[in-house]
Amino acid sequence: MMMTEQNTQIPSMSLSWTTLAVIVVIGIFSLFSLWMGFQALSSDRPEQSTYYLLTGTVGFAAIGYMFFRTKAVTTRKPDVPKVDVVTILECPACELKRVRDFKRGDYIHKDDEPCTRCEGNMVITGIHRRAEPEKKPKQ
Ligand SMILES: [Zn+2]
Repeated sequence: MMMTEQNTQIPSMSLSWTTLAVIVVIGIFSLFSLWMGFQALSSDRPEQSTYYLLTGTVGFAAIGYMFFRTKAVTTRKPDVPKVDVVTILECPACELKRVRDFKRGDYIHKDDEPCTRCEGNMVITGIHRRAEPEKKPKQ
């Protein structure tokens, strides 16, 4: 061992390195199992080859699972996106539509603020979550 373990006070780094090491070990083991499986397959021992191939497949599945887990943990956003609620206002007289942030006490069909275009009063026609601009990128 060339490594000196003086600085063990980096938990996040050590965790990811441990994970990486485990993944590498499982990867080598899985490759070996698959290789053994194909060897057994060509040497007329089908039941043994099934066992090896299964082990290799499970190993790769474990790697995929671990990668998924690690990624899920590391790429988690620090702040939870808050749910935006908006109120849809509509003027029955001139059909002007307006969207504003939801305020406590808003309810559908409530007479709200005066219309900005005519003398009428705007009525709440809908309350729902803000349409997020998360249109799926075309690929
Ligand atoms: Zn109006």
